[in-house]
Amino acid sequence: MKVLSGLTLEEIENITDELHASKFRARQIHNWIYLKSVKEIDEMTDLSVKFRDELKKIATVTDVKIKVKQVSTDGTIKYLIEYPDGECVETVLMRFDNRANLTACVSSQIGCAVNCSFCATGKRGFIRNLTYKEIIEQVLTIQRDTGLKVTNIVFMGQGEPLLNLDNVLKAMEIFNENFQIGARRLTVSTSGIVPQIYKLAENDMQSTLALSLHAPNHEIRRQIMPIENKYDMKELKIALKKYVEKTGRRITIEYLLIKDLNDSPDAAKELAEYLFDIKCNVNLIPYNPTAKNDYQRPSNNSIQKFKYLLEHSGKKVTIRLERGADIDAACGQLRGKVD
Ligand code: SAH
Ligand code: SF4
Repeated sequence: MKVLSGLTLEEIENITDELHASKFRARQIHNWIYLKSVKEIDEMTDLSVKFRDELKKIATVTDVKIKVKQVSTDGTIKYLIEYPDGECVETVLMRFDNRANLTACVSSQIGCAVNCSFCATGKRGFIRNLTYKEIIEQVLTIQRDTGLKVTNIVFMGQGEPLLNLDNVLKAMEIFNENFQIGARRLTVSTSGIVPQIYKLAENDMQSTLALSLHAPNHEIRRQIMPIENKYDMKELKIALKKYVEKTGRRITIEYLLIKDLNDSPDAAKELAEYLFDIKCNVNLIPYNPTAKNDYQRPSNNSIQKFKYLLEHSGKKVTIRLERGADIDAACGQLRGKVD
């Protein structure tokens, strides 16, 4: 059985050729899959019943299942999706009241090898990479279930996207071409895999690169992100500057605020110094509790003070809105498990 979701137009044309149908049929099927997100071949109503019956003999819309769906009081939806091999992954749909955007937060791997101390995903270790089709299925699952069209995609679910770069790039190409989501509405977040940042720079990636920095200096970063021992902040800075130079794009620096660890006024000043010659905006993420550790979220007062100090250095600073914390769908809370 062929699975239609995740196929390019050319691949769908191979199927219509096999059924001796015209290439126009392939275009119709393609639109039903990516733009109208049907669940069944029988919903493709501009195809004849006879042709649909033939298609059903050799193909199906999808082979993934929604295992659990949770809806937050703020409207965020979290899906636990099961692939045919039994592995599961979480995908989150976020709506922001004041905007028409619908943002999907997708996973790129099952588990994660990077093992940051604050993140629930790393706890499981690395299980396997997702294929580009499995990445795409997450967005299609959301669209099929809600009947809505996703407008923005962030690679901020489970996994380190730059350690699965080929599949991530292929998925982004399909989001761009087949889903008609502009490159600038796609964001890849990384813990800082330096050689892969150079690769993205060479690719002249027009999507947004978000870098999980989370610390103002090497000593603090080492404590919470083991990747700092492999690619340190000095190397990272050179790579980020190269990226900006090559692509012309502004980077988003993500900075997790953990009480008494990296949230002091001195930390804000040191961070500002590190960032002063990097073209970037800063997104502050107040820590979301996970079962993994006993870190705490700073008080609103110290979050605002940190923001003020950074802004004073000339950076544009935003505080990430917490979404779906009541259903463990907020940043860092995804584990890919039911219990
Ligand atoms: N592996 C990539 C992308 C997935 S994580 C990365 O690390 O960038 C998406 C974001 O959530 C990252 O910035 C990550 O550091 C952050 N995050 C992880 N655990 C968190 C927690 N407990 N609270 C808030 N944000 C967290
Ligand atoms: Fe992996 Fe990102 Fe979690 Fe770190 S924060 S363990 S890189 S998913």
